[in-house]
Amino acid sequence: MIRLENIHKTFLKKHHKIEALRAINLQVDKGDIFGIIGYSGSGKSTLVRTINLLERPDKGAVYYKDVEISAFSENQLIPYRHKIGMIFQQFNLLASATVFDNIALPLRLQGIDSAAISTKVNELLVLIGLQEKKEDYPSSLSGGQKQRVAIARAIASDPEVLLCDEATSALDPQTTRTILALLQEINQRLGITIVLITHEIEVVRAICNKVAVISNGEIVEQDSVENVFAQPQSAITRELLNPSL
Ligand code: ATP
Ligand code: MG
Repeated sequence: MIRLENIHKTFLKKHHKIEALRAINLQVDKGDIFGIIGYSGSGKSTLVRTINLLERPDKGAVYYKDVEISAFSENQLIPYRHKIGMIFQQFNLLASATVFDNIALPLRLQGIDSAAISTKVNELLVLIGLQEKKEDYPSSLSGGQKQRVAIARAIASDPEVLLCDEATSALDPQTTRTILALLQEINQRLGITIVLITHEIEVVRAICNKVAVISNGEIVEQDSVENVFAQPQSAITRELLNPSL
């Protein structure tokens, strides 16, 4: 479904070159919950932002269903951006809009009529279990509730893929479990493929079927979660699995 081929990305920071991504090859198949794990600064966010071309690679190609979207202009990318939703650690909700309006936003931008928007948003409110909060503002919600709203907004335009950048890092373990369960439900019931960045191996263990381990801009290991946990191939993976060592 998504294929990255030999992706390189360098940033210039105070006259220093930072090789954020080096020779990245990655394939995400339809239905996957694909984990990307690595330490801070290893290149996880840059990698995921390359998938929807928020970050343009210096070298290499991004394919979406075998179409090379990295060759596309911003205008040509618009339909693809609807197919690829995204959520973040800090939720990125509009503080001045109610829960209902936050979820409705992408639908309004697409010019969908208000009756259809209302039906869709109410369905999503049921899915995330926040019907009674629809007229509330984000500031009155807990972190877990805010992330639920962000998830509903991200899937409002029926994307095929949802990118999650540290979606549970701001949440306590109990709330993390409920958000992971919601992501799993979205994957299984709605058939949305998920790419999930995390620095917590337990998050990978809980819901991912595949995982790539990234270190210093390079993928050091990529396999099924089962294999990686049973026989980690790289020192970084072993360290992530046994943080006390
Ligand atoms: P974290 O876990 O802290 O979120 P990460 O694995 O997501 O880290 P990235 O944000 O992808 O890491 O950053 C990878 C490297 O690229 C870092 O050294 C970072 O400082 C650098 N970098 C990322 N974005 C930019 C940018 N816009 N300009 C300059 N350097 C950048
Ligand atoms: Mg990051």
